[in-house]
Amino acid sequence: MIPTKTLREASCADDYDPNSMPVDRARALITHYLEPVTTVERVHIRQALGRTLAADVVSPIDVPGHDNSAMDGWAVQYADLAPGAPTTLERIGESFAGRPCAATVGRGQAVRIFTGGVMPQGADTVVMQERAEERGDGVVVAPGAVTKTGQNRRFAGEDVKAGDVVFHRGQAMKPAEIGMLASLGVNEVAVYRRLVVAFFSTGDELVSIGTPLAAGQIYDSNRYTIGAMLSRLGCESIDMGVVPDVPDALERAFREAAECADVVITSGGVSVGEADYVKQLLERMGEVVFWKIAMKPGRPLAYGRIGGAHFFGLPGNPVSVMVTFYQFVREALLALQGRTNVEPVPTFKAALGAPIRKAPGRTEFQRGILARAADGSWTVRTTGDQGSGILSSMSQANCFIVLPAEAGNLDAGSPVDVQPLEGLI
Ligand code: AMP
Ligand code: MG
Repeated sequence: MIPTKTLREASCADDYDPNSMPVDRARALITHYLEPVTTVERVHIRQALGRTLAADVVSPIDVPGHDNSAMDGWAVQYADLAPGAPTTLERIGESFAGRPCAATVGRGQAVRIFTGGVMPQGADTVVMQERAEERGDGVVVAPGAVTKTGQNRRFAGEDVKAGDVVFHRGQAMKPAEIGMLASLGVNEVAVYRRLVVAFFSTGDELVSIGTPLAAGQIYDSNRYTIGAMLSRLGCESIDMGVVPDVPDALERAFREAAECADVVITSGGVSVGEADYVKQLLERMGEVVFWKIAMKPGRPLAYGRIGGAHFFGLPGNPVSVMVTFYQFVREALLALQGRTNVEPVPTFKAALGAPIRKAPGRTEFQRGILARAADGSWTVRTTGDQGSGILSSMSQANCFIVLPAEAGNLDAGSPVDVQPLEGLI
């Protein structure tokens, strides 16, 4: 639950301007009020992909479990090898990966060993096979084949020791972590429960797919975009449909959503005019702030609490929905899932392929197409018309071009920040 007191306190700060809220400030304020879920469940590692660890994972075993060979070759006693002359040793057995050798290597003896084979008792070093020649029932090791004790030998526990913390609470389970858990013989992990997110669209003009459009109506696309974005983040989502701009219907929808979900997301209805009654409604139901974020697209954003649920009121325009989701909601949902050290979206510099017109004052998230130039460097151009209703721009784009608030017009060749959409959306 969001501590009510503090959200009000923040709005009394000197630099708090709800009509021109900088992107970073809004992000920081939101982060400040998030209380992650605490319920823990145990899942098989096959079901753990994308989930967040609710407890540290401690290794029950050493990895590797035994000293073993890093090479195909011969397990020997280093002290036996003459530094300046060939050394002849007696072959007393073989050690294959998974099939150890029971014999103990004594003075003047060697065991044929293969990569991953357990080091036999008595041997301390492995001579690689290219530096030794099998002869009769023995082997002749070339002078200088190894230069120190323990060469070509992997030590038990050199990757992980029993008792080591291998993963920390708050870490995301990705394919490498799942493989690593299997390598430790761990079959179940404690993860936080999934976040439940209820969402609906507001607008008298909206029609759900499957119904023919009457004059002036449009299909509701935001609910489908939001549902898809939530799936990618591993949330459990509740699609509450379209709610008309009618105070009673909206009140009922907000109440139901807040009762069944951790987070409520809406689109539309937060712009000037429409926002007025939504504002009054939400004032009674919880604590919500309306910000005009100093960004383009995605200006009006409502954020706060309804009952016990976190609330994000996104703008109605389809591109604005996606931009505000990726710039504010994504990070918040990850934090609410219990994720610690949520990485900001990676950003790098690319050169503009064509000039961009921009007025100083707002951070812009233009839809861009990144491409590799012949010299290997990255250049970026916009997808064209940047209207916030042009959803095809999000589909054509492979990055956001992030232009800082203070930037004005930019010439071709100027370095700009880009956020690749790959891996993000
Ligand atoms: P609003 O913020 O409600 O004033 O909406 C701004 C613009 O976005 C209007 O042109 C709406 O028709 C459009 N819009 C609002 N909600 C949706 C939606 N769910 N799907 C597609 N377009 C929408
Ligand atoms: Mg509307």
